[in-house]
Amino acid sequence: MTVVTRIAPSPTGDPHVGTAFVALFNYAFARHHGGRFILRLEDTDRQRFQIETEARIVAMLEWLGLAPDEGPGIGGEAGPYRQSERLALYREYADALVASGAAYRAFETAEELDAMRAEQRRHGRDPGYDGRGRSVPRDEQEARAAAGEPHVVRLLTPDGGHTAFHDLLRGEVRIPNADIRDTVVLKSDGFPTYHLAVVVDDHLMGVTHVIRAEEWVTSTPLHVLLYGALGWELPTFAHLPLLRNPDANKTKISKRKMDTSVDSYREQGILPEALLNFLGTMGWSMPDGREVFSLDDMVGAFELERISLGGPVFDLKRLRNLNARYLRDVLSVEEVARRVRPALQARLAADAAAAEVEEDEYLFDVVDVLRPRAETLSELADKAACFYASRLVYDDDARRRLAAGQSYLEDLEREFAALEWFDDDGVDELLHAYVQRQAVPMGKVMMPLRVALTGSTDAPGVVDLVAIMGKSRVLQRIGHALESISEALPDDDPERLRSEAEAAAKAAEAAKHKPRRIVGTAERG
Ligand code: GLU
Repeated sequence: MTVVTRIAPSPTGDPHVGTAFVALFNYAFARHHGGRFILRLEDTDRQRFQIETEARIVAMLEWLGLAPDEGPGIGGEAGPYRQSERLALYREYADALVASGAAYRAFETAEELDAMRAEQRRHGRDPGYDGRGRSVPRDEQEARAAAGEPHVVRLLTPDGGHTAFHDLLRGEVRIPNADIRDTVVLKSDGFPTYHLAVVVDDHLMGVTHVIRAEEWVTSTPLHVLLYGALGWELPTFAHLPLLRNPDANKTKISKRKMDTSVDSYREQGILPEALLNFLGTMGWSMPDGREVFSLDDMVGAFELERISLGGPVFDLKRLRNLNARYLRDVLSVEEVARRVRPALQARLAADAAAAEVEEDEYLFDVVDVLRPRAETLSELADKAACFYASRLVYDDDARRRLAAGQSYLEDLEREFAALEWFDDDGVDELLHAYVQRQAVPMGKVMMPLRVALTGSTDAPGVVDLVAIMGKSRVLQRIGHALESISEALPDDDPERLRSEAEAAAKAAEAAKHKPRRIVGTAERG
């Protein structure tokens, strides 16, 4: 038997991390067994339908590397793959159900159904369809339908007892038939409900394993009845655990509580490999327990039975952490450079005189020195922009720090200009010797220099910065920094100046206890 799996997202709203999660598990299972993975769009809910979402779902799967074998725009033998293009099929099977007596046409109006429910509530009963349409003779049903009277098609379900199915992960799941109550399978507008469409499609598309979100577990008994009524064999069902918010109650992940849009993670610079790896740890683990694994690793080791149902938590901190590991340890410098380049170019778009962002040694050096300090591609691009910008903007805090180090910057401008071997060693020696001559704590010199070069206090080792930027850019930056000091500082608040002086003294004190070596080269790896 060839394994066939599918995802069946409804194209509404942002492509959801839950869809990516279900796609990953369906993909891994199909690939592990050399089977096929189908994308089908459940777009029959025309009110919620959003045309551009289909393209976004396809793009999401492609970005993640979970490209389906069959689907809209891809083709395949079991198409079409949009439910809206399969309406005639659903009607055909609804008719067949009516013809065999497994379903009937029901003509109650919305008002009548409302009155029925109100009556049920008045008597303290759960509201639900009471099967009143069953008593209309079949030929009368057909005559009224032929005359154009609006109606739905309802599946005739047993009144008592239970319907059960075997879930690969949950064992036997049973629900009382009283909860199913002659469910509508074809609506009065001729569109199928989810239940009919999903059963017809899964059967006709040869889906062998229905692997989907937990929220559908209670609909499955109804599907089982439909399979029975149509005389079809059941597929294997497996309902994945729900992803949870990292809150105390571990509620189901929702847009309200956290970002559930895959596109948004992509924009933030989360890598597809890291997102997949992260989703792969939601209820699943590699047999050897390793935390970092690729899609291929997962496919190779995938077993549905290894899924645990204990509410996996979508913990953003862990996702960012994993992403940082991919940036730092898993991908090569060249690969990270290639991926960060568009974001970096976007940040420099307004700066006509910015240096070109080529994929060359300069970018590789920049990425190499920054990637231990970034969790996402966006952060990396933010930090890298100062290596390319034609001119930095120094904020008030930066200008104060520059002012505090003005004389050092002036000295260093001269010394760097005269330095012949402008490499790690040359720069390291120069700075080391300069700090010793000045007999001041290292930070007093390094901080203003770091700010001059990057506009920020959070940057890698100064020696690395200087050596990577190179002589002319460093001299230009220091020159600009010195110019900006002369622009008026807005701050003459004595209280603020006093607390800053105290902070500086504390930092100097702390620096005394540190080894007086200018670390820089050692940080690179
Ligand atoms: N359209 C449903 C969804 O968006 C599909 C459920 C299923 O996989 O059967 O989740």
